[in-house]
Amino acid sequence: MPIYEFKCTSCGYVMEVLVQGYVVPGELTCERCGSGEVKKVMSSGHYHQSQTDRLGSYGNQSRKSDSFYSDTRNIGLHAEQMLRKAGVKPTEEFKTKLERLRTNPASVVKDSDE
Ligand SMILES: [Zn+2]
Repeated sequence: MPIYEFKCTSCGYVMEVLVQGYVVPGELTCERCGSGEVKKVMSSGHYHQSQTDRLGSYGNQSRKSDSFYSDTRNIGLHAEQMLRKAGVKPTEEFKTKLERLRTNPASVVKDSDE
């Protein structure tokens, strides 16, 4: 089954949704803010993985492709994995920061400059 990415137009959150057949507009709601204003993101052609799969496969590959590094959703995977290995639960602040890095890296860079 295909996995599509949907972006919330309210908060910018991007979620991956397993699509069974046709998606009825308005049926999907943002996992983060609950807004019904989500838009399908056109696939850039790379293989879709869930965030859990990404975390699981991270570190298993000896070499990462360029697309791995250019994919902002892979930002912070290493830190996240180290925390898991140490048995530390990521704080909400950590997760929020990661999410911002992944969805809108420019905003984070901008903030730290100020
Ligand atoms: Zn949202």
